[in-house]
Amino acid sequence: MIVIGAGAAGMMCAATAGAGGREVILVDHATKLAEKIRISGGGRCNFTNVNVAPENFISANPKFCRTVLAGYTPQDFIKLVKSYGIAWHEKHRGQLFCDESSEQIIAMLRKECDRARVKWRMPCTVQSIKRIIGGFELGTSAGVLRSRDLVIATGGTAVPQVGATDFALKVATQFGIEVIEPRPALVPLQFDPNVWQPFAHLAGVAIEAEIAVTGGPKQRFVEDMLFTHRGLSGPGILQISSYWRPGQSLAINLLPTKGLAQELIELKTGAKQQASTVMSKYWPKRLAEQWLGESGQRKFAEWSDKAIRALVEQIQNWQVLPSGTAGLRKAEVMAGGVDTGALDQRTLEVKGIEGLYFLGEAVDVTGWLGGYNFQWAWASGVACGRALAARTRD
Ligand SMILES: Cc1cc2nc3c(=O)[nH]c(=O)nc-3n(C[C@H](O)[C@H](O)[C@H](O)COP(=O)(O)OP(=O)(O)OC[C@H]3O[C@@H](n4cnc5c(N)ncnc54)[C@H](O)[C@@H]3O)c2cc1C
Repeated sequence: MIVIGAGAAGMMCAATAGAGGREVILVDHATKLAEKIRISGGGRCNFTNVNVAPENFISANPKFCRTVLAGYTPQDFIKLVKSYGIAWHEKHRGQLFCDESSEQIIAMLRKECDRARVKWRMPCTVQSIKRIIGGFELGTSAGVLRSRDLVIATGGTAVPQVGATDFALKVATQFGIEVIEPRPALVPLQFDPNVWQPFAHLAGVAIEAEIAVTGGPKQRFVEDMLFTHRGLSGPGILQISSYWRPGQSLAINLLPTKGLAQELIELKTGAKQQASTVMSKYWPKRLAEQWLGESGQRKFAEWSDKAIRALVEQIQNWQVLPSGTAGLRKAEVMAGGVDTGALDQRTLEVKGIEGLYFLGEAVDVTGWLGGYNFQWAWASGVACGRALAARTRD
């Protein structure tokens, strides 16, 4: 069998199928192995999340990922990581990171492939794929390769700077398989420069906020948000960006404290300070001063209850209309991809095209920020690898 793409899903699939007795050729066009794993998690690879559930994934068919995720869990991957003596820690909301370096995960997967006697073809470019009787024929820079089974694990189109391509989408189209329109996800959002001008100099200010798409799906995130020169970023914005579509506004609660209006009304009694100084107890000073403008210089005690309520409404229901995303070069993943309707949910084989499989980010299953995308890559790789190993026994 041939696996194209020696990334997270491809190596996992090759190692699983190889360990199960299949002869595997693993092809990748890159000169350096698994660049996305290397740069992930700020170089420490957020390799899974202990809270993984189907609800943490976005897809035109939200139920599709269930079987695959249940078949290979975060605990299974943690067991593998432990068996290699790789130290890790939990950082935030179930996110697991290597203590030292993402290179350890790459070395582990390389070793797993070597143990399973996987044959590497790297760097190797695939120029053509043809369906032949009993399998597939590939024209490559290393000559013609033939195989009964072909796995496409070339990932998504995010961050082309490290070798991401639309190869999987092109192969899908070649074989008449539907593709859900790809779009950048887990990506900063930008605004029209004129609209953003009053906020641009807040660049670098970070606060916790509750963020949702106005009139969009019910999903909301309470996470850190970062002001940038061109718009908004930080974990909360990356998360909501996967749900956001052009033309939609965001509803942002910049101070998600219950009963805030009442708290401020009680606070103003006897307050000798300026309003911006009072608000600096809740917010970074720069944000408090910018938000309140000249009115922030007035003593807080002079503010009417009505004015305080209006301020709180403005802060807790800030409606903003992004003009776009920062694009695929800055996105952590591609959302959309090979339509899950075309795939078997247990094996990821294309329905009606025996021996052709799509895995990982190439498929229309996109995880939240926080280790979810790797868990999908590992689990889809294992599901397919197991199915292919079982085929030797057919
Ligand atoms: C900056 C950044 C940080 C991230 N951090 C995290 C994180 O901490 N946790 C997390 O869960 N997810 C993270 N992700 C997402 C995660 O890296 C991907 O979702 C995951 O790697 C997808 O696995 P994959 O195997 O489908 O694709 P990839 O890992 O991208 O592997 C695809 C492979 O296919 C090869 N390939 C591509 N095109 C071709 C072609 N035409 N011919 C031959 N080979 C080809 C590539 O060289 C690559 O080796 C991050 C992504 C980015 C960009």
